[in-house]
Amino acid sequence: SPPAAADRPPAASRLWHPFSSLGGTRASELTLVEGKGARVRDKDGNWYLDATAALWYANVGHGQAPIADAIAEQARRLAAYSTFGDMSNPAAAALAEQLADLAPSADPMVFFTSGGSDAVDTAVKMVRRFWTLRGEIDRSVIISRGLSYHGMHGHGTSLAGIAANNAGYGMAPDPEFVRVPHDDAGALRRVIDELGPSRVAAFFVEPIIGAGGVYPPPPGYLTEVAQICRSAGVLLVADEVVTGFGRTGDWFASASYGIEPDLLLFAKGVTSGYVPLGGVIADRGVWEVFADATAGAFRHGYTYSGHAVACAAALANLRLLVEQDLLARAAVLAEELAVRLPRLAELPGVREVRCAGLLGAIALDTVRDPALPERVVRQARAAGVLTRVINGDSVQLSPAFVLTDEQLGQLVDRLAEAITAAD
Ligand code: PLP
Repeated sequence: SPPAAADRPPAASRLWHPFSSLGGTRASELTLVEGKGARVRDKDGNWYLDATAALWYANVGHGQAPIADAIAEQARRLAAYSTFGDMSNPAAAALAEQLADLAPSADPMVFFTSGGSDAVDTAVKMVRRFWTLRGEIDRSVIISRGLSYHGMHGHGTSLAGIAANNAGYGMAPDPEFVRVPHDDAGALRRVIDELGPSRVAAFFVEPIIGAGGVYPPPPGYLTEVAQICRSAGVLLVADEVVTGFGRTGDWFASASYGIEPDLLLFAKGVTSGYVPLGGVIADRGVWEVFADATAGAFRHGYTYSGHAVACAAALANLRLLVEQDLLARAAVLAEELAVRLPRLAELPGVREVRCAGLLGAIALDTVRDPALPERVVRQARAAGVLTRVINGDSVQLSPAFVLTDEQLGQLVDRLAEAITAAD
């Protein structure tokens, strides 16, 4: 029999929040109902500065009418139809064409997914199938960076370097997934040498470590690992789910740091989150092997691969990024952040600050006070700033590119006040 009404959770608690303890979120649940630019409003009418652009994705900001209009128009005409086999739609085809033009790779093809985790798991299967088709069936090991985050699907969970996200699922450490310290190109070379290059399929790299704490790559790191991969015949896979579509002032961080990955993974900023969408941009050297007459079908894909509404949202989003010159704006904001954020390093309780592009993290002294980061986030919310804790000790900054100069000042000032009040 159904539980008595008194035993049921109140309606507002039916939502099983991701990345939360089920018992812990009821008292503090925050319901957001509206967004404009870099601000969002809750159901009680309070406005907040969105320090993180939601989960690193609202690059063009909230409430952009041209994207909403494009979504509505496409939904009215044909919301979606499968792109399996030989099926297509104009929005998916046009978006693939535009992404191919923007990507830092030669003559690529674009495989669409529903989000970033899908893109990661698609790429794992792509690189393994690539080597199978090439007849090098022992090339199955995939190397990734410590502290990296590659989504929460099966392969991505095994790949990623944030230990806490991998624990508690009964998954034995998989010897086919090997991690190297995030900042040590020499370690990648040693691991490839130890395993033997003929065992290694790919190196997955977040150009800037995101959810692991916003760690910029050491100078020269990315070009060095690209060179190591090239000389060992290992495929280079850039996970640009966070860094793509303007975060570094370029369309992709790969371009900012001078690398040309064989596969480039995107999601989030491709639509600024207005509709879920992700994908893999594959260099010609990769897709040609799949296009060979003897290769057979790549038996992989998602119901919503090439979803017309999602692709229409992306096309409108890319148009806004260009028309409002938002990549240049992100670059200006990044410079300003790099000036203002280091001042917070002098506050009691702050261990260090880190910046890369329009991404920042304030690392707090959790040795002295493990609960400090959560208290800072709560204080900031009370002061009208929404942020969150990443990797246990750091407070995230990744605002929308439409943030005004005044809002950037407010953001940093209010975070400083929150840190002082929480310490
Ligand atoms: N890869 C990176 C670098 C990410 O930061 C994320 C999400 O934060 C993902 C993959 C997974 O994307 P999604 O949550 O859309 O599945």
